[in-house]
Amino acid sequence: MSYRISLIPGDGIGPEVTDAARLCIDTLGIDIRWDIVLAGEPALKQHNSLLPSETLNSIKKNKVALKGPITTPVGSGFRSINVALRQELDLYACVRPARYIEGTNSKHPGTDIIIVRENSEDLYAGVEFKELDEKTNGLINYINGISEKKVRIPSAISIKPISSFASERIIRFAFELAKREKRRKVSCIHKANIMKYTDGLFLQIFREIAKGYPQIEVNDVIVDNLCMQLVLRPHEFDVLVLPNLYGDIISDLCAGLIGGLGIAPGANIGETTALFEPVHGAAPKYTGKNKVNPTATILSAALMLKHIGEHKKADILEKAVAAVIKKGKNVTYDLKPTRTDPGSVGTKEMAEAIVEEIKKELKNG
Ligand code: NAD
Repeated sequence: MSYRISLIPGDGIGPEVTDAARLCIDTLGIDIRWDIVLAGEPALKQHNSLLPSETLNSIKKNKVALKGPITTPVGSGFRSINVALRQELDLYACVRPARYIEGTNSKHPGTDIIIVRENSEDLYAGVEFKELDEKTNGLINYINGISEKKVRIPSAISIKPISSFASERIIRFAFELAKREKRRKVSCIHKANIMKYTDGLFLQIFREIAKGYPQIEVNDVIVDNLCMQLVLRPHEFDVLVLPNLYGDIISDLCAGLIGGLGIAPGANIGETTALFEPVHGAAPKYTGKNKVNPTATILSAALMLKHIGEHKKADILEKAVAAVIKKGKNVTYDLKPTRTDPGSVGTKEMAEAIVEEIKKELKNG
């Protein structure tokens, strides 16, 4: 079987970690032709567009993509290209497994949580209005006219849309995933005590859909309480389904539970297309330093292999990663007992150690 897959190297540490993942996949002997396409700053420089149609068309045609992180300027400048890609391709489900790997610095051995984050709406919709803008003041006047609660003028406004359509779609996705993966419990995460109409709708739909899955245990947890419970008792959680913003924040918290962003993979799934990328960002301070952990991207590639049906090769890849981390020798700084450990290796060297383990697995098996 041969495949054609789009590859977006991204920026910051993106090219280094995607190179590492490609090296591992190529060692597995799968016939993949990579279409290398750009997005973000590198695309702006080369194609004068942050998200060129060539990139979108390549992913639409291939239906599968592997992606490195892309920088988003903070506070001003262009909007996130990562969010734009998910919206343009309607990759509505963000799936992020946080599974303990022996040999990491995790304080919570045995953690095994799957985050299912809604990817298309909520405060990530990008519907925002600037402070001191005439349109914003007009909008505030309109709101103050129809709402009992008043908004101060001047203010900046972000809109949080939550629809029945998107909530139903992601919650059903979470239950189907739980059923398929034989997971015991799905928890709905919300702040419906405060946001009665938006998070309240999400929770109401969760309760309705849960009735169709009597074999799966369910509960709902307010997001701030979840943060505390996750840190104290992560083993009580299994599959979490959340609106977009909470999903983003809880993903990093869960990455912390298993030993850091360096080992947290992710997938963005739509009806026809899927894009795989690590939870972490572009970590600009480490750009070009051959320093960061390639595991999160390599494990995202393993999720991609499962998605295209290459389960055996995905297992080999996951085992190879686990073997290198367990041995603890050829690992990056974040997997050593201290971050300044002189024995840590670079991104490339860790990937090469994983390649050696892949070769051993292939030989034995
Ligand atoms: P970040 O995830 O890039 O980095 C935060 C810290 O986590 C780093 O300083 C580093 O200490 C650690 N870290 C991250 N990746 C690591 C790895 N592979 N190995 C070891 N340690 C690692 O978060 P940030 O600094 O908040 O964001 C930097 C940029 O990335 C921003 O522009 C942000 O918008 C963007 N971002 C992109 C994505 C994406 O492309 N999907 C996701 C998150 C953030």
